[in-house]
Amino acid sequence: MHPRVKTALRRGWRDLDTVQFGMTPAHAMTLGPMDTATGGFLDLLDGARGLPLLRAEGRRMDLPDGHVDALVERLSRAGLVDDAHGGGPAAVALRARPEVLDRLSPDLASLSLITPDPGGAIDRLAARCALRVQVRGAGRVGVTLAALLSGAGVGEVDVRDVGRVRPWDVAPGGLPAESVGERRDAAARRAVRRAAPDRPPRRPDPDGAEPGLSLVVIAPRDDVLVHAPDAGAAEPLMAAGTPHLYTGVVEGTGVVGPLVLPGGTGCARCLHEHRTDRDPAWPRLIAQWRSGRTRRAGACDLTLATAVAGLAAAHALAFLDGESPSGTGVRWEASVPALRWRERPVRPHPACPCGSAERAKGEHASTDGARHATMVVQRPSAERGERTDATRPTGTWRAHV
Ligand SMILES: [Zn+2]
Repeated sequence: MHPRVKTALRRGWRDLDTVQFGMTPAHAMTLGPMDTATGGFLDLLDGARGLPLLRAEGRRMDLPDGHVDALVERLSRAGLVDDAHGGGPAAVALRARPEVLDRLSPDLASLSLITPDPGGAIDRLAARCALRVQVRGAGRVGVTLAALLSGAGVGEVDVRDVGRVRPWDVAPGGLPAESVGERRDAAARRAVRRAAPDRPPRRPDPDGAEPGLSLVVIAPRDDVLVHAPDAGAAEPLMAAGTPHLYTGVVEGTGVVGPLVLPGGTGCARCLHEHRTDRDPAWPRLIAQWRSGRTRRAGACDLTLATAVAGLAAAHALAFLDGESPSGTGVRWEASVPALRWRERPVRPHPACPCGSAERAKGEHASTDGARHATMVVQRPSAERGERTDATRPTGTWRAHV
């Protein structure tokens, strides 16, 4: 272990014996009591020294025996320490490419804020290299989103679409102006490759088993499909159990979600059934919208498209990184001009064959309060926060800043 105090958080002394790590309420915490000598010792925890060398430095500074180990242990339990040499084989391989790691260093620092274990953040970042994601739709939202996932280190991001790039598909971070007239899928794949911090991993051995898709993002250019996702088109994904995330822009409203974990959370058909329950005219309207002429270019301004792509990519990455999938069972929506995000629930519907309603009922009926080992939905982040708080050592607490 080569302990390094997480560099993502600035340090400051609140008083003579209390250190505050971080500035913002979301991640700041304070540690105390801490004497000045120990505080000075924190500067040595920069990942350059292993524990034996740190103990020797501690003795040289007249710190009591065992003090250095106790300090590192305390900081580790508070989630404030990383291991500069930590992580598994994928992390070691990533460290061997410092130019790639430099590109991803802000992403790694972000991950370090939500990964308490030393070495955990680089493990998560390295794990992205082995993931396969497919993005369906190469418009303003789809290509920007695909490029974001690729730039964040996802190893394979495949974009599917038809036709040729039109002038209104062009977006900063998405398809460049030079690609107008080219095939959409080819131009989108090139944008994805350009965003990648590393050359793409080698294609799997054709004789070997190709790993499945970790996630499919459905980002249609057609605004009717954004407003009313096509449940029929998602049937193969439902049957294969492939997680999928809906996103896009319809008439100046950006949509992110739901993230569907097949059989576990509300799906496109659940959404359709609930809408039909609430509004008997819904199926009639949908039929008219779907049969109407496709508009040349819908209301999808660049800032909205970029905000939508950013939020959708964030939800996708959180899910891929193994975080609580906050996008399940909900559609986030924001409209021009203010883009204030609001969430609309997408609950399991009892008439939907996806089975998520049955599952939800079964879980409600469970009286022992224990979570099922097979439950698809992971614990909500609030619960995770409570658990973290419960295990936090005495003398460490969230800073009220
Ligand atoms: Zn359903």
